[in-house]
Amino acid sequence: MKSHLWIEEKHGDFLAMKYKVEEVLFSGKSKFQSVDVVQTKGHGKMLLNDGLVMVTERDEFIYHDMIAHVPLFVHPNPKNVLIIGGGDGGTAREVLRHTGIVRCTMVEIDEMVVEACRKFIPQTSKDLDHPKMNLVIGDGLDFVKKSKEKFDIILVDSTDPIGPAQPLFGKEFYQDIFDCLNDDGIVVSQGESGFYEVKMQTKLMSILSDLFPVSLLYNFSNLTYPGGLWSFTFASKGLHPINDFNEKRIKESGLKFDYYNKDIHKGAFCLPSFMRKNLEPYLKG
Ligand code: SAM
Repeated sequence: MKSHLWIEEKHGDFLAMKYKVEEVLFSGKSKFQSVDVVQTKGHGKMLLNDGLVMVTERDEFIYHDMIAHVPLFVHPNPKNVLIIGGGDGGTAREVLRHTGIVRCTMVEIDEMVVEACRKFIPQTSKDLDHPKMNLVIGDGLDFVKKSKEKFDIILVDSTDPIGPAQPLFGKEFYQDIFDCLNDDGIVVSQGESGFYEVKMQTKLMSILSDLFPVSLLYNFSNLTYPGGLWSFTFASKGLHPINDFNEKRIKESGLKFDYYNKDIHKGAFCLPSFMRKNLEPYLKG
């Protein structure tokens, strides 16, 4: 039967994006959020948490290339990586492509997200059972507070700051992250939209610049996040994303990417003037 379904993703009370749906593959309600996987006409399978688009098969490579490979090619020898959130598995998949990685721990609060993606979106979840994976179902906030383990890179692959992800945008969490990082550690976090979430982005950058000697932000373009332009924050105990970037390592790795390359790496940190104006006091390094 031909589907007449469309789903609408609302952003605040002023913007909505609509996607034609061919089939609803999974719909559930966990303790934390609603979780849906749908087959769309234009973007392949799509995961939504609380009605907000998390990943689509068509453009997830952009987000996952940029959250993972930017810090992984800045850190000279990353071995131990922690992902907070990331239940679809796309970030872990990209981390695990780096053969020097010894262990990739992923702390996702919602088992339903992981299970729905395992079943319906193997494109992102295919490496969740990799021998180097340490998958923890739990709150990322608690994990970094209690962890005695130190990490080279921490990737905060979280939802927007609502529900269980709200404290992931707070100072206490980032103090704990700082304490969990090795002396040459880097943290990259989902940094929201420079158009629509200026307050949130500025707050996150002000927290990072208070705690870390290097705090910067980089952009990427995306099909399915509101406004098309989205960001990651980059903070470290010393490593600089451009000055310490050895672009030869990309070639040496033998890895091929559909979005990431050496020029994208450098260009992503060049911010448009309107963003630079807002973030200037917090850009350090
Ligand atoms: N690419 C995505 C985006 O920004 O749209 C993020 C993808 S991933 C699915 C985000 C995950 O973060 C969700 O599955 C959510 O359950 C998880 N999450 C939210 N709060 C969390 C917390 N406190 N601890 C661990 N995971 C959390």
